[in-house]
Amino acid sequence: MMIHTRFAPSPTGLMHLGHALAARVAFTLARQSNGIFHLRHEDIDGPRVREEFYNRIEEDLNWLGLNWDGDPLRQTSRIPAYTAALRTLRERKLIYPCFCTRREIQQEWARIGAAPHGENDSIYPATCRNLPAEEAEMKIASDIPYAWRLDTQSAAKIAGPLVFQDLHFGKITVNPDALGDVVLARKDIGTAYHLAVVVDDAFQKITHVTRGEDLLASTHIHRLLQALLDLPEPIYHHHPLVLDEHGQRLAKRNESQSIAALRAGGMTPSAVLALTESVFQKNLLGLSG
Ligand code: GLU
Repeated sequence: MMIHTRFAPSPTGLMHLGHALAARVAFTLARQSNGIFHLRHEDIDGPRVREEFYNRIEEDLNWLGLNWDGDPLRQTSRIPAYTAALRTLRERKLIYPCFCTRREIQQEWARIGAAPHGENDSIYPATCRNLPAEEAEMKIASDIPYAWRLDTQSAAKIAGPLVFQDLHFGKITVNPDALGDVVLARKDIGTAYHLAVVVDDAFQKITHVTRGEDLLASTHIHRLLQALLDLPEPIYHHHPLVLDEHGQRLAKRNESQSIAALRAGGMTPSAVLALTESVFQKNLLGLSG
């Protein structure tokens, strides 16, 4: 089997050490086995995407010696493929339109007494899941903006029990409630991360998805979508993150920690990669195991 891996940054900021580690893991796994290392720009994040960041990411990767194969893929060039996948899910009644604003969702959390876990991992209270069809159609007809959400309950019933094998965490049973009824198509762009990533991992024939452990919960949704869309299931490797001196994950807003800043400060590529070494070694254990 030819191994295909990918590094999938969002061009919404500069690469930092966490990205360098993610790219290095995917690069090494491909190179160890004469496989293919893909670069995919996940550029569907609307106004946060900036043209300069595509180039800066590519420059940093080249400078680090983490050269990718073939042309980089931009998700914005793949919208028709996401639309087709969304249509399939829609025909099977596995998604529903959601008209809630962020504010309404917060009010609903307050009403039902659910404490949101955080900005990104709050579970949608499924307010629109049982909206009568006529009411939804009426809202759509009156141009009220809506997103499409996965009906995880119906999806889980159809897909049946699922597992995935993670090279770092071992065998994991899919829990459809891990993230709840996630958005698969945003109001503005007609797709969203979870849908685009599974459609593209299949399109790029990715055999090994390597990425930070912060995305482990997303994989529950990704496995579900692969089953529903009849897509092949890659092997997963969620790796530990590079942390800063306070034990916090690195963020794009900390530009002083960026690869560009380290480079401008006179560091060599190997000195920068050495800063990822201890976490990288932990990852290698997973990859060879
Ligand atoms: N685009 C995501 C990020 O920059 C990575 C997605 C993935 O590896 O699946 O965090």
